[in-house]
Amino acid sequence: MSLAKQMILQIFFTLIPMVVFSIYYRDKLRNYSKRFIFVTSSICLLLSMTFAASVVDGLIFDIRYVILFFGLVYGGLQTGILLMIEFALYRAYIGGQGAWVAMLIQAIVFSLSLYISKLYNASYRKNMVTFFASIVFSLIPLTLTYYFFPSYVMEHLTFHIIFIPVQTSLGIWLLMTLFSKSVADKEIYIRHVQNEKVKTMSHVAASLAHEVRNPLTAVKGFLKLIQEDKQDLVKLEQYIDICLDEVQRTESILSEYLSISKPLTQKHEPLDLSAQLISIRDVMSPFANMHNVLLQVQTPNIPVMIWANPDEIKQVLVNFVKNAIEACADVQHGAVLLKLVKKENEAVLVIKDNGVGMNAEQINRLGSIYFSTKSSGTGLGLTYSYQVIHAIGGTVSVYSKPQMGTVFTITFPGMAEKEAGSSW
Ligand code: ADP
Ligand code: MG
Repeated sequence: MSLAKQMILQIFFTLIPMVVFSIYYRDKLRNYSKRFIFVTSSICLLLSMTFAASVVDGLIFDIRYVILFFGLVYGGLQTGILLMIEFALYRAYIGGQGAWVAMLIQAIVFSLSLYISKLYNASYRKNMVTFFASIVFSLIPLTLTYYFFPSYVMEHLTFHIIFIPVQTSLGIWLLMTLFSKSVADKEIYIRHVQNEKVKTMSHVAASLAHEVRNPLTAVKGFLKLIQEDKQDLVKLEQYIDICLDEVQRTESILSEYLSISKPLTQKHEPLDLSAQLISIRDVMSPFANMHNVLLQVQTPNIPVMIWANPDEIKQVLVNFVKNAIEACADVQHGAVLLKLVKKENEAVLVIKDNGVGMNAEQINRLGSIYFSTKSSGTGLGLTYSYQVIHAIGGTVSVYSKPQMGTVFTITFPGMAEKEAGSSW
């Protein structure tokens, strides 16, 4: 293989962490883990050493310093040490006259990498640190190789003073900048989704505050009646019952609201979709009333179990219902219907509204990030919701006609009864 081809191959390996990150974390609302860094760096290291550039048998040159540096920066010391062990074992296995020198060089470069990785993490000028690292990772191996094999280095001078430093510098620059860019994009997205959640819930809260006033007024009225007429015990008991009902209803709406607006967690568990829909109806009814929209929920009278994260599912349902209510806000007799059907292996939720509807172009763009037709919309509600649904193996389909309304059909993979029972 020509040297240029070998170099292109090595550079190609530096793209692996970024590419795998984009694919694996696409539907996830969290950033990379140390395990992910270790696995991708390990694969990179093995590939890079297997297809290393070499002009003489037994002496190989690859981007190992770059990969170990990457492992240290993103995975910490533990990942770095594990990669170091992997390198030593594999280099010993490959063998050849350069094996022991390679290990010595690697040990020295590794201790310097420890320092540079700390510098990288603490510094605002990451490009400068990356540049500094590329000089260190080029000069130290060159000097030491020359010290042990002077005549060999002099014979292949261009290879050592141009080819290897260019390969190392390009490799480190690509690996560090591309990966940090992907990670930063993911962080921005996670922050946006969290802000969107706060925004959505604050809209709902505004209508809720309004709704809570009604039962309070009723309770106040009945308490006044009780105060005025303490003699009639039968009536007294009736009034107290009404008051208790009102207070209980308000309390349950408020606690549902609080459970939806709390921060997202990661846990998945068996979840009764039927019960979730009822609580979503309680929380979203005030919002529907405020927009003069009728909100109805039809659920089977049996639990419909799915395996999911309750916080995420509640948020997804709020997003769909809120959109449907907003779509009906300016139509007469606006109505939103949520219908849940239990099928053999799945639960099917239909969310139907008679609102403004969408044209073909809008339907096509549904779910893509930042797509919104509202003046104060964020276009993140559906992006997030689609991700959550796809991540648990569900599907979303949509049928819509302008000025007629929209029907979203969401399927959730069901849980077998036995499975659901045994998990509790
Ligand atoms: P936002 O609500 O902030 O605009 P979403 O991601 O929730 O963002 O929705 C994106 C867009 O999809 C909305 O702006 C709207 O144009 C369209 N949309 C979603 N649901 C409906 C619906 N039920 N009826 C009509 N249009 C809808
Ligand atoms: Mg929305």
